[in-house]
Amino acid sequence: MEKIRPTVEKKITMAENLSIKIEPKITAIASQWEKIQTRMRKEFGDVIYRSWLKPLALLSNEHGIVRLSVGSRFIRDWVNTHYLERLRQLWILEDSAVTTIEILLVEQAHRLNIISVDDQQVGNEQPKPLVVNGNGDTVQRTIPIANHPNYDQLGVRLDPRFTFENFIVGKSNELAYSAARRVAESASVSYNPLFLYGGVGLGKTHLMHAIAWHIRKSSPNRRVLYMSAEKFMYQFIRALRHKDTFAFKEEFRSVDVLMIDDVQFICGKDSTQEEFFHTFNELVDKNHQVVVSADKSPANLEGLEERMRSRLGWGLVADIHPTTYELRLSIVQAKSELLKANVPLDVLEFLAQKITSNVRELEGALNRVIAHAALLHTPITVGSTQELLRDLLHQYEKPITIEDIQKKVAEHYQVKLTQMHSPSRARNIARPRQVAMYLAKQLTVHSLPEIGKKFGGRDHTTVLHALKKIEELCAHDREFAEDIAFLRRSL
Ligand code: ADP
Ligand code: MG
Repeated sequence: MEKIRPTVEKKITMAENLSIKIEPKITAIASQWEKIQTRMRKEFGDVIYRSWLKPLALLSNEHGIVRLSVGSRFIRDWVNTHYLERLRQLWILEDSAVTTIEILLVEQAHRLNIISVDDQQVGNEQPKPLVVNGNGDTVQRTIPIANHPNYDQLGVRLDPRFTFENFIVGKSNELAYSAARRVAESASVSYNPLFLYGGVGLGKTHLMHAIAWHIRKSSPNRRVLYMSAEKFMYQFIRALRHKDTFAFKEEFRSVDVLMIDDVQFICGKDSTQEEFFHTFNELVDKNHQVVVSADKSPANLEGLEERMRSRLGWGLVADIHPTTYELRLSIVQAKSELLKANVPLDVLEFLAQKITSNVRELEGALNRVIAHAALLHTPITVGSTQELLRDLLHQYEKPITIEDIQKKVAEHYQVKLTQMHSPSRARNIARPRQVAMYLAKQLTVHSLPEIGKKFGGRDHTTVLHALKKIEELCAHDREFAEDIAFLRRSL
């Protein structure tokens, strides 16, 4: 039973904002959703279900609109194109009033201040404790989400996949990883704050959740609070609106470990930053651990107050660098094993080689490959992967330049690169030059005059003539046409 303190009433108000209000309607909707999930799993199979449909959380079903949320833009788009209509049909079977299914990104849902029904359902089976309010009356209150093992203090769902065990360590992230482990494992505070920074999709959130999971297991009594800076701001605004900032402050300042993700979000937002600064200071002064993440180092965050900047840099600042090929390969290997999918090594190598931007995109691509093969019962090959991911891979391809083309063509026909620009009209040189012009028109966005200029300052009519000549040759000479096709492919 909770100890009764003078602040208890405030605390209850705060907790109640975030607590589970179990209404019969919500329970009914949730059970409909459960039935639909079971059907989808049966219909699409386990792999697809786990990759695409399980991540969807039910937000609401009102006025014929069912709202779901998901953390990844990629999954949202994929479900929208592949499963939305079926989802709608399944909903209609459960509730004939449904007309539309909407999938929101989690951030959008937060912005709209929608708490998911799944979240509201948590703790359903737990008894309601009795607490005493300020007037001495006994009131019944629902259990805050915090009591559920998958949630932190203020009801943020921790991703069960984001553990240290599932984090692959390589050169680019070993500093951040060791620092995070140190914070999670040591009872005393080692560096305060721990500031993790790096580009999108490189594992910052993963490491923070891993810290929370670890502490939760090893010292269940330590109060851990993980929250995005964005949510911090909305909670703060909500507290202001409800004239409840006292409870808000209490809630935050009473934790043992505070983790705020993506603090760049509150840069330039003065009052939120101010509030965060005070919370931060108080916790650090009390020697409670603070962990913060951002997309840039404290020195490079714009819109950050000077005092905040300097305090954020006091502890350990650990950056996560872009991934290396080896790390990406280890990640896709581990991930495909985790999914129990038989992905051939050459496909994994292909993915690790091609999708270099971040781990989130890499994982998304792997999921897509696995789901596609499972859906169509086809084997996974480099060819099918290339075909399936054409759009995505396209983004990674550097645009071809006229210089690339000249180089390749000169190599192919064994002429000197300088001869691409020379005035010579000898057939053995003019022909390769024409081929290069033709490919430049086909593979780049340059205009005829621009192309002419790059070939020794030739006129655009010369280029036009070259294009016609090559087209003509291609039409009548199969061997020549194949040669051109080969060159184009190798570019
Ligand atoms: P960030 O918060 O830096 O934008 P996330 O932590 O959300 O990135 O990571 C994006 C995805 O990539 C997550 O699914 C995460 O599990 C995965 N990921 C990132 N780095 C690693 C890693 N080193 N090992 C395994 N998974 C990783
Ligand atoms: Mg993140």
